[in-house]
Amino acid sequence: MMPEDDELKKAFSFFNLLPGASIEDVHAQYKRRAMAWHPDRFSKVEQKRDAEEELKLTNHANDVLKEHFRNTHASGGPCSCTASKSFNESANRRKSQAETHAQTVRQQEPEKRMANEEASRDGLAKAAQLAAAEVGVKDENLRRQVAIYMGICWLVLTAINWAATAFHS
Ligand SMILES: [Zn+2]
Repeated sequence: MMPEDDELKKAFSFFNLLPGASIEDVHAQYKRRAMAWHPDRFSKVEQKRDAEEELKLTNHANDVLKEHFRNTHASGGPCSCTASKSFNESANRRKSQAETHAQTVRQQEPEKRMANEEASRDGLAKAAQLAAAEVGVKDENLRRQVAIYMGICWLVLTAINWAATAFHS
């Protein structure tokens, strides 16, 4: 790789772009960075100094890319950022990896949502079961109490009956 290729690659990555990005992409990124690091936006001296440093780097990367587009691209000749296989292959690989990842995330989302819905449905069903069980227990207690009272009543009546019979005879 020639030193200017390396410089070019660095300039692209400085703007978070892959080699082969268009001049419009470069320009948009340049504007963004130039605005973000405008020294007027900072009040402290050291912040202003940092901003100026960032601006210098931004301008340098922009100059490298502008020069490259103006010379190599305008002449229509083979260019290290579009014709170099390794550049484009790694760019495409990274792009497709990013796309695959995004797709996986998109695919996972409905599944996750469904799982959550299922979980909350399960929760509701369990709560309903618990409530029903509680009612069942209360019913059972009531039934037992009624049975005991009825048993007592039966015993008392039988005793009265027995006493009456015994008294009459
Ligand atoms: Zn190029």
